[in-house]
Amino acid sequence: MAAYKRVLLKLSGEALMGDDAFGINRKTIERMVSEIKEISDMGVEIAIVIGGGNIFRGMTGGAAGMDRATADYMGMMATIMNALALQDAMKQAGMDARVQSALRIDQVVEPYIRPRALRQLEEGKIVIFAAGTGNPFFTTDTAAALRGVEIGAEVVLKATKVDGVYTADPKKDPTATRYSTVSFDEAISKDLKVMDATAFALCRDQNMPIRVFSIVKEGALKRIIEGSDEGTLVQCKPI
Ligand code: UDP
Repeated sequence: MAAYKRVLLKLSGEALMGDDAFGINRKTIERMVSEIKEISDMGVEIAIVIGGGNIFRGMTGGAAGMDRATADYMGMMATIMNALALQDAMKQAGMDARVQSALRIDQVVEPYIRPRALRQLEEGKIVIFAAGTGNPFFTTDTAAALRGVEIGAEVVLKATKVDGVYTADPKKDPTATRYSTVSFDEAISKDLKVMDATAFALCRDQNMPIRVFSIVKEGALKRIIEGSDEGTLVQCKPI
């Protein structure tokens, strides 16, 4: 039995890079897709918000000194590229994935239409939300919180390279321990960096739990869906 019926999975651009310096690593994306397929086969409805850092990083030199809004629109376009790559990898794995973009680019992908996204989810299709919120000065974490709330997801699953939220940076402090659950208030007071402030505030206000987990750790996604203690659950009241 799956612990969740509908989830919003936030994949940062970094998650697609593997160990490469930027771009999309084929093996990494294929492995990720097979893990997503596993939970889709369990009957979980999955919407994905994809980041763009992996593509954007390759051109930060060029973006430095640019007008912020212009650079942000470029960043949003980078997320559309990732969304197409992810959709393609999913199709090759025999999954039915749709991309909906917050920026109109009609020849390439559908625009974001909430009722259509809900319908596609009900039909068991994977819906990939591209172009973040469609507005500069926001992040794809905020898009994940926003879309998660909009589609009535039970949880935002934030994929990172670390398997949860730690008391301190585990790379610098070997005594750091992982939180199994933590409240929004504690995360704020201890400055545990879970998401950016806008995304975090939206989740807290809407009582949307966030589970931070490692996308590099094999099987972690499935274990979350099975209800195991994986990563860190950030919510209004810790259990
Ligand atoms: N972005 C934006 N508005 C949004 C979402 C993203 O302007 O609603 C831009 C922003 O420049 C951001 C880039 O797109 O840096 C890529 O998104 P993000 O940094 O969140 O991707 P990730 O770090 O998760 O790969």
